[in-house]
Parts: sequence; structure tokens; C-alpha cells
Amino acid sequence: MEYLKGKTAVITGASRGIGEATARYLAENGANVVLAARSQTAIESIANDISENGAGASAIACDVSNHTDVSNLMLHAHSTFGSLDILINNAGLIDPIARIEDSDPEAWGKIIDVNVKGVYYGMRYAIPIMKDHGGGTIINISSGAANSFLEGWSHYCASKAAVFRLTGVAHKEHNEHGIHVMGLSPGTVATDMQVSIKASGINPVSKLDASSHISTEWVAQAIAYLCGPDGEKYAGQDFSLKTDEGRKAAGLPGL
Ligand code: NAP
Repeated sequence: MEYLKGKTAVITGASRGIGEATARYLAENGANVVLAARSQTAIESIANDISENGAGASAIACDVSNHTDVSNLMLHAHSTFGSLDILINNAGLIDPIARIEDSDPEAWGKIIDVNVKGVYYGMRYAIPIMKDHGGGTIINISSGAANSFLEGWSHYCASKAAVFRLTGVAHKEHNEHGIHVMGLSPGTVATDMQVSIKASGINPVSKLDASSHISTEWVAQAIAYLCGPDGEKYAGQDFSLKTDEGRKAAGLPGL
């Protein structure tokens, strides 16, 4: 993955799960990584670990639902490493899981603030920097929930459907500037999010056996693939790891 060498990648939600694995994987393949999340101690510890292995890494506390934080994050990446080539809009929440009639309106809105506005803020502040530098790649972490209907997930389904539309619009606006925007729908992944889903017991996803979830490292590998030249053909779309074709394209075992 020569194309990652010396590139600067911002990863939101990098304190655990898919974001942590992605930061580690991109760094192992030569990228400078900027880890963002609310848990400052966790991202600092991961960034130190990455740095000790010889890669460029920096951590900055950031609540993606706060646009000032997100603006500062992109400026920090640019000033620390001199460019901003890759943005992984990964931070996301699903809790609290509840049917519409039982849901708390404040908590419902918080999911939209993080999952939708957070993705918009990321693109809003990364795109001008990428445009000045001649292009970049933005990957918005999507979900099968973007085009399915799952009980208890009204907030999450609505948020991921909105992210899919944001991906499409950003692609239309910026593909001509060399900015490739795409979604990645990973299927179910073995992270804390799936632990919460299982505990809810609400819909068929909560009944899945843990052995059916893929590893965070597989998702990280697919993200790295999408950052390369082959990824450009998926611009404006959601690339899915739930298909045999998607898995094989990313160099993963087929279904
Ligand atoms: P996870 O292990 O729960 O990690 C979520 C990450 O998001 C954490 O690093 C968390 O960090 C961060 N985050 C949450 N709210 C934030 C905020 N306001 N500002 C900044 N960071 C915030 O979940 P995951 O499974 O890795 O999920 C990552 C992404 O993949 C999400 O977008 C999720 O919707 C998507 N996804 C997951 C699955 C799955 O099966 N796991 C499937 C499809 C899609 P802090 O708490 O430290 O802020």
C-alpha cells in the first residue's frame, strides 16, 4: 500500500473499535494518523503506542457533534503533518436503543447530532483543506441500516440513511476537485456497539451470534483499500463488506 506512505489521515471515533483498528492499520502502512474522540486518555495512549512503532501519530480530543471541535481537528491535522489527505468519518452511536413510542426525544436527537451532523462537520472542514491540496479521500462509515428498517433503531436507521445522502451529495460537489467521497457498510463487527445491540434484545441483529461478526482489522483493511486508486470507482456509493464481491475486492476472505 505504497499510496498510504506519507499521507495524513484523520480518524474520528478512534478511541476503540473500528476507529482504533483503522488508525493502527493506516499507520502500519505508512500514513500519519490523527486520532479523534472524546476519550482523551484512550486516544493519547493509542497514539503513543503507534508513535513508538515509528509512525506519525497525534491525538486530539474532539466531540464530533461540536463544529468548533471538528474545525480545530482538521486545522490540527494540517498544521501537525502539513496536509490532510484522508478523512474517516467513523464516530457513531446507537445507544439508547428503543422503539419510537418509548424513546427519549433528547437522546434521539443526540444520535442525529453525532451520526449525521458529525459527518457533515467533518466534510465541511476537511474539504476546503483537501481542495487546496488538490484532492483527498473521505470515507463515511455507513451501515446496512442506511437502507433497511429495524425495530428500535429509528434514530440509527434515519442517521445512516442521511449519511448515505451526504456521501452522494459530497461526491457530486467535489469529485471534480479530486475528492473521492464514499461510504463503507461493514456488516456486523465485533465491537462494543454489538455488545449494546445484543443487550437490547430488540430486533434480529440482537439475536446474531457473536461468531458472525467480522473483526475490526478486516474493516480497517477495507478502508485502506478504499483509500487507494481502486477505491475511486466506489465514489458516491456505499461499498459493502456483506457481499462476496466486496470482501474479495478488499483482499478479505469471501463469504
Ligand atoms: P464503538 O466501538 O462503540 O466505537 C465508537 C467510537 O465513536 C468510539 O471511539 C467513540 O469514542 C466515538 N464517538 C462516539 N461519540 C462521539 C462523539 N460525540 N465525538 C467523537 N467520537 C465519538 O463502535 P464501532 O462499532 O467501532 O462503530 C464505529 C462506526 O461503525 C460507527 O459509525 C458505527 O455506526 C459503524 N458501524 C458499526 C457496526 C458494528 O457492527 N459494530 C456496523 C455498521 C456500522 P468516545 O466515546 O471516546 O468519544
